Amino acid sequence: MIPISPSNLAKYRECPFHYQGIYVTKQVKYPENEAMRRGSMLHSCLEQACKQQAVDWPAKETAVLDYCLPIIGLIHRLMDGGWTVHIEHEAAVNADGSQAGWWQADFLRSKIDVAALSPGKDRALLWDWKSGKTPGNPDQFYLNAFSLVPEWGAIPYEAWFVYFDQKRVEQHSIKLPFTNLALVGESHWKGSALEPLVKSVRDLKAAWVTNDWPKTPNRGCRWCLMDCEYRGR
Ligand code: SF4
Repeated sequence: MIPISPSNLAKYRECPFHYQGIYVTKQVKYPENEAMRRGSMLHSCLEQACKQQAVDWPAKETAVLDYCLPIIGLIHRLMDGGWTVHIEHEAAVNADGSQAGWWQADFLRSKIDVAALSPGKDRALLWDWKSGKTPGNPDQFYLNAFSLVPEWGAIPYEAWFVYFDQKRVEQHSIKLPFTNLALVGESHWKGSALEPLVKSVRDLKAAWVTNDWPKTPNRGCRWCLMDCEYRGR
């Protein structure tokens, strides 16, 4: 099984058959449309701005920059104020809960747009840049937090999706009820806010064993490259 990540788990939840084509048989690439390419380009510009590097910001995207500037300014003030700030941070853990290198991890890895640890190391902040209208799933922030446990511990997080096209932010408070997602038993998560996430992780692990990947039609069928009767619908 390849390590879980927020994006591949989201793809599995959307359509297991499509996940299989991308990550198991590797017969298709992750689909990319114009909106995704724009999102990647803006992520790259925001990464450079947060790192205080020169940015060749596209003229037609100045509205995004104007909206994000106060957040970028706050991130710079945190850096000046002694916070540990990681931009485009790659965090990875093994199934035994130990910290792992990105390519060595056997359980979980997540790329985090901005992660900031307080000088007292007792709380942390996360930001995720979002283009377009597709809503973020707060499970992404739980996965980010689980992937940071070996580095920062199971501290509380405040996390924000920054919907820069919609000019709004959405805040989530993240508290981990356990430290290692790989080892958690059913009694730990049944009925908790983490139930959908842990069930998805459990189902994905089982699918790698049983090789059962059902087709699940969804709005992504329009861009899907799989050989599937729902493709393009
Ligand atoms: S076309 Fe739709 S149902 Fe078929 S594999 Fe792709 S996403 Fe899944």
